[in-house]
Amino acid sequence: MNSDGQGWRQSKHVYVGDTRVVTKRNYEGETNPGYEQVSQYWYHGDHLGSAQAVTDCNGVMYERLEYTPYGEVWIEERGNGEEGLPFRFTGKEMDEETGLYYYGARYLDPKMSRWLSADPAMGDYVPGPGMSPDKLSGLGGVYNVINLHTYHYAANNPVKYTDPTGREVEILGTPEYIAEVNRLLEEAELASPDFKSKMKELRDNKEIKVTIRAPETQAEKNGGSSTLYSDVEAFANNRPSGSEIVFDPSKTVYDTNTNFALPPVTGIAHEIGHAYFNMKGGFNGKANVWDMSTNPPTFIYNKDSESNAINFENEVRLALGLPYRSNYGGFPVNIMPESIIRLRMKN
Ligand SMILES: [Zn+2]
Repeated sequence: MNSDGQGWRQSKHVYVGDTRVVTKRNYEGETNPGYEQVSQYWYHGDHLGSAQAVTDCNGVMYERLEYTPYGEVWIEERGNGEEGLPFRFTGKEMDEETGLYYYGARYLDPKMSRWLSADPAMGDYVPGPGMSPDKLSGLGGVYNVINLHTYHYAANNPVKYTDPTGREVEILGTPEYIAEVNRLLEEAELASPDFKSKMKELRDNKEIKVTIRAPETQAEKNGGSSTLYSDVEAFANNRPSGSEIVFDPSKTVYDTNTNFALPPVTGIAHEIGHAYFNMKGGFNGKANVWDMSTNPPTFIYNKDSESNAINFENEVRLALGLPYRSNYGGFPVNIMPESIIRLRMKN
């Protein structure tokens, strides 16, 4: 019973997938069906799922919230005497008394920007007898220093992960990896205004999510950089939700014609070209794929996608005075007319 003489508070939640969309409030023993009808609250979250606005059954603003990077509530606005909803930062429940967020396995203290307990995945970071460090989770397990910071949240990069500007290109990995990829993207953007404007299109597109990460498995480490479609089911329906770029900035790639060692900026420009092609719906079921039914597997390449990626790469090569690329592993590609014009102007 609360002080108003009502029974225990009850909440019902309506989900779409993993996202909590509506909370309906009621009290134990409340028999009027209309009560729940008027006591429903709709969440309007950012892409991380943090509630930013809550509207009532009439669509009127009920609560407005803003957060610091680690989830401490910074701005909290609602009507006098109204009770806030507990589901806030990244959609997790904030405990009223302690101000901590409950994440299932652990509590996050948004004021300290730390978990209250150590990473429960710690066991996966420690190698078993004879086990290779390559097999450990978290990109190297205990050998990767960041994994030993077992109280950190979001790899100490809450701004990257909360993505406050809504940028839809996300780099995942150690702080060093993120910094290096950001540096290369900036280098490419500075070199080529055309690359910069296409990069902006990718970042502004809310439907397509691009992630960039380091190679993880041995096969990925042995191979070159690649761009995968991040959603196999959607790929089958011709509607990918995004691209996943696997990129190793420390790997040296040689130009096939001149044997010139290429700087990593050309590699990331190429992979971004694939992600852009994907965003434009150009892939049309013709992505680069490995045909696993043959032994060894055969690579089936998509000429349109590679041509587009090579044009992105060439924009940056041109700007940096590097040799121009005209083929893909010996196969000719379609060079965009505007690139040829720029090439002529340059020569
Ligand atoms: Zn490619």
